Amino acid sequence: MSHYRQALICLNGHCISYSIDDHPEHNAPFCSKCGAETIRVCPNCQTKIRGDYYVEGYTDFREFKPPAYCHNCGKPFPWTEKALTCAKELIYEDEQLTNQQKEDLINVLPDVIVETPRTNLAVIRIKKCLLIAGKYTAEGVRQFSIDFACELAKKQLGL
Ligand SMILES: [Zn+2]
Ligand SMILES: [Zn+2]
Repeated sequence: MSHYRQALICLNGHCISYSIDDHPEHNAPFCSKCGAETIRVCPNCQTKIRGDYYVEGYTDFREFKPPAYCHNCGKPFPWTEKALTCAKELIYEDEQLTNQQKEDLINVLPDVIVETPRTNLAVIRIKKCLLIAGKYTAEGVRQFSIDFACELAKKQLGL
């Protein structure tokens, strides 16, 4: 038997539990890392947030990463939304990039988070940005990629 278990995630994207249905003792209304509220269903459609994929008799040791988007309604989860907004604001504050470069970069941020046909393009734009953007922007975009980029983007960025 195999199925997705239910996850409990804080609004900033810290995973409290990837199997809260099997381990109700892990339940907590707030995150112990950042103090934010925790959720176990999508705020938009109330579907259970997918935790790990449980396969009977098999232990998965890969690190669990909270999903970026709801599998049922396609809306970004609060932590994805926050990460995107935060990266966007940071890019807008940059003093080295032209407005066009800023827009181009902001446009591909969602393609850094999840693998899409535009992920390669996103990686190229980020690499360029890291070369020409101001120090704080470059650091911020780098940190954003470390925290939220999909595996493919991380590999291509050498993170
Ligand atoms: Zn947290
Ligand atoms: Zn949803």
